[in-house]
Amino acid sequence: MAAITGGSGVARLARAVGLAAGLAVPTLAGAAAEPPIRVGVLAYRGGDHANAAWEPTVRYLAERFPRRGAEMVPLDLAGMDAAVQAGAIDFVLTNTGNYVELEARHGVTRIATLQSSHAAGSGAAIGSAVVVRADRTDIRTLADLKGRTVMAIDPDAFGGFQVARGAMQRAGVDPYGDLRELRFSGFPVDRVLFAVRDGAVDAGILRACVLEDLAAEGRVEAERLRVLEPRAVPGFACAVSTDLYPDWPLARLASTPEALAKEVAVALFGMPADHPAARAGGYQGWTVPLDYQPVHALFRELRIGPYADLGEVSLLDLARRHWEWLAAAALALLWWAIHSLRVEHLVKVRTAELQAANRVLLHEMAERRRAEETARERQREMDHVARLSILGEMASNLAHELNQPLGAIANYARGCTRRLEAGAADPAQLAEATRAIAAQADRAGEIIARIRDFVRKRASRPEPMDVNESIRAAIALCDGRARQRNIPVVPALDGDLPPVLADRVQIEQVVLNLVKNALDATPDGGAAADAAARAITVRSGRDGDGRVEVTVADRGHGLAPEVRARLFEPFFTTKPGGMGLGLSICRTIVEAHGGRLRATDNPGGGAVMGFVLPAAGPAANEEPHHAR
Ligand code: ADP
Repeated sequence: MAAITGGSGVARLARAVGLAAGLAVPTLAGAAAEPPIRVGVLAYRGGDHANAAWEPTVRYLAERFPRRGAEMVPLDLAGMDAAVQAGAIDFVLTNTGNYVELEARHGVTRIATLQSSHAAGSGAAIGSAVVVRADRTDIRTLADLKGRTVMAIDPDAFGGFQVARGAMQRAGVDPYGDLRELRFSGFPVDRVLFAVRDGAVDAGILRACVLEDLAAEGRVEAERLRVLEPRAVPGFACAVSTDLYPDWPLARLASTPEALAKEVAVALFGMPADHPAARAGGYQGWTVPLDYQPVHALFRELRIGPYADLGEVSLLDLARRHWEWLAAAALALLWWAIHSLRVEHLVKVRTAELQAANRVLLHEMAERRRAEETARERQREMDHVARLSILGEMASNLAHELNQPLGAIANYARGCTRRLEAGAADPAQLAEATRAIAAQADRAGEIIARIRDFVRKRASRPEPMDVNESIRAAIALCDGRARQRNIPVVPALDGDLPPVLADRVQIEQVVLNLVKNALDATPDGGAAADAAARAITVRSGRDGDGRVEVTVADRGHGLAPEVRARLFEPFFTTKPGGMGLGLSICRTIVEAHGGRLRATDNPGGGAVMGFVLPAAGPAANEEPHHAR
């Protein structure tokens, strides 16, 4: 037999996992047409022990499959995992904990569960007994183990530690955190009992029924020991401190043919309870596979076996399962980040551009304000110069005007003196004369005030005003001169004009300029009888659009076409001593008031210079009687 399987791959694998090749037990082999059924058996206590316990079971199978035979492949935990992964075996016979791990990792499926010789009923027979010495009355419950020294078989032992660990944790005692000391004895299991019995440790953890078995063998006195929190499980003959879990299963690999699995299961179910194989394995036959979910739950609770790295695996699993979504989310996040950065960058660039543009704009606005202020200042200067200039031309007129009141004052004063000297001073006559003197002085004062007002350097101050006032003032300033030259200046004023929004002195300046030009255009030397024919008429009224219109009509030499074309140009003059600024300034003033300056021919000969101004206020365009 050894010759048949000695060189097989399975035997080599068994060697590889550290077990003697000789342990691979060739069983009854019929015709060698098909390879023997390979049963991997967990040999946690070494090959010899496994051989003794399980070789008869494998031999039983070999007898049931005479043509193929069956062979046992003893494996330790790592070897079992490798063999299942490599598909080097067909079935596994292993403990409950290892089965659950293989099920989770490699998809092995139980086909039968051991029927424990201690459990009459269900087959759930694996639990833990937590044992203390009978005289330790201070330890009654699992919770009492806190701070004690406890001994168990092995951290990987299912009944010998893990089941008890779960129960202890549920009782609030973490074996790894709450004990004074946790020791592992290793096999054989009676070491634990001896340590408890001898007081080396406070408590020991054993697979349920081990105590009873050893007591039956006479290796320990059961009455000297006590199991903590013993549970009454119907049909279960042993003392147990925990829930019971299914016993060892026989499981098929995912690759094992269904039909073969079925046949093997049927063969196992058919094993009599008292079969030598069952007796050797300490069981009483096989039953239908039990539910191992409670074991999964326990492992999950303890985070051991397949659930050792539950947290990380879950996350990793999740990542693997939903990688498309994760990738999409990552891409979206990346896009969003890039987009945000880009937008931020663009905003920064635009803000910088706007700030620069704003700076330029502010600078330009300041420049413009300065330029406008300069232009206004120039205009004021020019206005002023023009007024001084026009007044200079009127100097003789002013002298004449002032001469009249001054002469009258002198006459009245001399008359008074004479009367006083002659001693014929009638107080009533003297009083009348001094009143006349005062009146004439007032008149002279008015003339001076008017002149001072006219020439004062000032900024434009538009206010609602009557144009007629400005016309009268302008005529008063040049009337003397006109009379000297025997040219009547005749006002023809509409007393029913709406007010205009204008600067009084500037309008006066314009009218004075137009009258002065009219005087200049009118030739000298007419006889007194001609006076009416040479009169200058200053007219005010409203034009067709409701605007206020002022015209100065003369009977002078009129406007030659070439003169008319350049009339308003600065420095255009036809006069020997002229400056040519008068009309250009007049136009600037009138247009600044929203009006227009124009020149036409006087049908009776001469020129008509005039301007229009918009009427002030809401009544601007209404009929005169409404405007009042
Ligand atoms: P100035 O009086 O210093 O010459 P103006 O600008 O006031 O400057 O006038 C420009 C020119 O327009 C005058 O030189 C004159 O030739 C002409 N002009 C102005 N008013 C009249 C007028 N009423 N009749 C004829 N020509 C005129």
